[in-house]
Amino acid sequence: MSGHLSIVGIGPGPLNQITPEAEAALAHAHALYGYGPYLERIPIRPGQSRHASDNREEAERAVAALRRASEGDRVAIMSGGDAGVFAMAAAVCAEIEAGPPAWRALEIAIVPGITAMLAVAARVGAPLGHDFCAISLSDNLKPWDLIERRLDAAANAGFVIALYNPVSRARPWQLGKAFERLRAHLPDATPVIFGRAVGRPDERVSVTTISQADPIGADMATLVIVGSAQTRVIDRPGRTPLVYTPRINQTASA
Ligand code: SAH
Repeated sequence: MSGHLSIVGIGPGPLNQITPEAEAALAHAHALYGYGPYLERIPIRPGQSRHASDNREEAERAVAALRRASEGDRVAIMSGGDAGVFAMAAAVCAEIEAGPPAWRALEIAIVPGITAMLAVAARVGAPLGHDFCAISLSDNLKPWDLIERRLDAAANAGFVIALYNPVSRARPWQLGKAFERLRAHLPDATPVIFGRAVGRPDERVSVTTISQADPIGADMATLVIVGSAQTRVIDRPGRTPLVYTPRINQTASA
């Protein structure tokens, strides 16, 4: 019997931001693999086994799930947000590429989810309304100088930039350095959005400028969106401002 492996994005936080397709994939699995706190968000189903692991154990989790699926089981691996954005789907693909031929015969379904940058953007308006890119500030898997080159290139090309993994306990200085780098390319008033734990009870969202952005405002659960020179802020009496990047962009310069 050929096994089945779903790699499922469960959205940024609340279960009302999980898609019906993702919900069904989790409900039909015999075995669920995921980071402990994500597993806790999913209702327990009789007969379903659960395998919690640490956030840093992506490769081990991928191998365990692939082994289980190749025994003929229906298996689901969960990721926060979208499974293909800085998450498990790429880890599983890497293990399939390096692993035994039998893993290539498995049925694999990748089920998309709402990624953090979309959830954060939606809280403030439409900062991703025009061309944008996403960069992970984690230098665990790539060198810091490559990240700096990408920040320079993205800011120079006029992209709005979503920064995933801005800080962690082991990476305290990277976001400050990234802001410093971006200030060299962007006007002082360029909007910067901090979106923390969006969709969860401890959510916090704030809007500032690149000249005032303070890395202290970010932690591991924060996504930072740095606007382009085109990004605008609409102040509204008694309400949070709206931030957007217009779709019309006819100037040659970024
Ligand atoms: N696969 C995930 C991203 C994993 S990388 C996704 O598609 O969203 C982890 C980073 O995602 C965190 O450091 C943070 O930058 C961001 N993130 C994840 N959930 C978030 C949330 N609810 N609010 C804000 N940022 C979040």
